[in-house]
Amino acid sequence: MKIKLLVLLVIVMLLAPLILWRLKAQVPSSFAESRRRMVQNQLQARDITDPRVLAAMGKVPRHRFVPAYLAPMAYSDQALPIGQGQTISQPYIVALMTQWAEVRPGDKVLEVGTGSGYQAAVLAELTDRVFTIELLPELARAAEARLKELGYHQVQVRIGDGYQGWPEEAPFDAILVTATAPEVPPSLAVQLKEGGRLVIPVGRPGFVQQLIRYRKVAGQLREEARLPVMFVPLVKPAEAK
Ligand code: SAH
Repeated sequence: MKIKLLVLLVIVMLLAPLILWRLKAQVPSSFAESRRRMVQNQLQARDITDPRVLAAMGKVPRHRFVPAYLAPMAYSDQALPIGQGQTISQPYIVALMTQWAEVRPGDKVLEVGTGSGYQAAVLAELTDRVFTIELLPELARAAEARLKELGYHQVQVRIGDGYQGWPEEAPFDAILVTATAPEVPPSLAVQLKEGGRLVIPVGRPGFVQQLIRYRKVAGQLREEARLPVMFVPLVKPAEAK
C-alpha cells in the first residue's frame, strides 16, 4: 500500500512540470495575448472577415477603455460597465458594426455615443476622419483624454445630442449609433452621404432590439442586414434630467 502511494507520488512529481506548463499555456500571459485570442475566438470564429477590421481589433488596447478593476475582463466575450449607467459593447458587436460600416481610408465617419471612446479608436485605425458625440460631459471628457493619451489625435469629440448629428461636418460616409433609438433619427439620415452606411440599433430600451445596417441609395435608406442585440438607450436630452 505504502509502495503504491510512493509510486503515485513520484509519478505526480515527475508530471508536475508538464501539468504546470500546460496550465500556463491556457492562461494568457499578457493583454496582447488576450487580445489575439479575442480576435481569433470571438471574431474570426464568427463572421468577422474584413482583414482591416480584424487588424484594428487586434491593435486597440481595449483594457485601457474599461475601469481599472475590469481590465482583466476587457477581452472577454461581453459588454462591460463604464460608469454613469453606460456600457462598452461586446468586442464582437464593435467589430460587426465596424465591418458593416465599410470604412475606407479617408472616409468621414460619425459615431453617436462616445462612451469610453473604444469604438471611436477602432474607427480611427481605419480612417483619419472620426467625429464622435457624447451626451454626458464626464464620459466625453474622459474619452477625449484617453484617446489623446493613446495617440488617437484624429478623433474629434463633442459634448452634445447625437439625435442632431454633427451638421457642420456632414455629410458622412458612415454613421454608427451605439445606443438604441425607437427609429432612425431623421437628422442622421439627412447627414449620410449617398452610398453611405448607417449602422444603428432600432427598438425599445430594455427589450431586444435590431441592429440594422442601412445604405443610402437614391436618397433613401435601404436595409441590408440585421441582428438582434441589446443596447443602452439613445437619450433625448429633455428626458436626461
Ligand atoms: N460606443 C461606446 C459605448 C456607447 S454606450 C464605447 O465604445 O464605449 C452609449 C453611449 O451613448 C453612452 O455613453 C450614452 O451616454 C450615450 N448617449 C445616450 N444618448 C445620447 C445622445 N442623445 N447623444 C449622444 N450620446 C448619447
